[in-house]
Amino acid sequence: MITRTLFLISIVHLLGCQSPSQKEAVVPKDKVILVIHGGAGTITREKMSATMDSIYRSVLQTSLRTGYDILEKGGTSCDAVIAAISLLEDNPLFNAGVGAVFTSEMTTELDASIMRGSDLNAGAVAGVKTVKNPIKAAFLVMEKSSHVMFSGAGADAFAAEQGLEIVEPSYFSTQNRLERLQQIQKEHGTVGVVALDTEGNLCAGTSTGGMTNKKWGRIGDSPIIGAGTYAKNATCGVSCTGYGEYFIRTATAYNVSALMEYKGLDIKTAAELALKQTYDLGGLGGLIALDTAGNVAMPFSTEGMYRGYITLSGAVKLLIYGDEE
Ligand code: ASP
Repeated sequence: MITRTLFLISIVHLLGCQSPSQKEAVVPKDKVILVIHGGAGTITREKMSATMDSIYRSVLQTSLRTGYDILEKGGTSCDAVIAAISLLEDNPLFNAGVGAVFTSEMTTELDASIMRGSDLNAGAVAGVKTVKNPIKAAFLVMEKSSHVMFSGAGADAFAAEQGLEIVEPSYFSTQNRLERLQQIQKEHGTVGVVALDTEGNLCAGTSTGGMTNKKWGRIGDSPIIGAGTYAKNATCGVSCTGYGEYFIRTATAYNVSALMEYKGLDIKTAAELALKQTYDLGGLGGLIALDTAGNVAMPFSTEGMYRGYITLSGAVKLLIYGDEE
């Protein structure tokens, strides 16, 4: 979760140093086929031990390689997105799946969405409580229903009927987590992946536990197509992370695509401008974006964002802090 303090810190940081757009300067030397994020927030070198730093990088690398193996064998971009995200949903380090943050009532309500760039088909679940891997439920909404989003108990029942793994709500109460890990994952850790398959099709997915202490059935941007997730082969695939309300209000994920389509911007410029418009409203966060040529953008307005990509040749790039390029 991005706190007010972080908001203020980041304004100072941004005013003093660089704008969100200047911070991102990733120019791929090779075609990128899979890009990943593990959330944006107050992620600084001072706050991170060397051990945690390498654990995060290794988990993200495993996730990238898992998706890569699927793409290499000719699997679809959505298969790669599901596999890469499921792996992160099964890891308590991230605010998704088993690591989901708690609501004000100490329960967990999970959100996820997926979108395919070839036909603009999409699926999402919001506020599910018993689905082990919400990204798989989102995919089944897309593939097995004529709808785009299911919520609450209905979404849980749909997932069960589709044969997905159902768990007791206590599965998400990871009491055995170390206190420090709880603190870290409370502040950030939404996950997202965009993949490009050998057919040239993009797919984007996002999964989250939402914001700590949320109530009234609050839903953020992550399961909302156009806000937290978007994919269109003609432009790009996008997954966002950050203060969801602002990403909904500025339709951030779709905005990246629209800026490319209607303004003719390249992916990096479009991603930075869309994020700036969200930031200008008061929303901190970040996003990942990938186009069919394998160009990637990973801008963020927070101090750090877990992020990385893998190229066609299998080269992995992983970044965490704001000063890494
Ligand atoms: N965007 C998510 C939400 O608002 C949270 C996050 O990405 O940190 O639910």
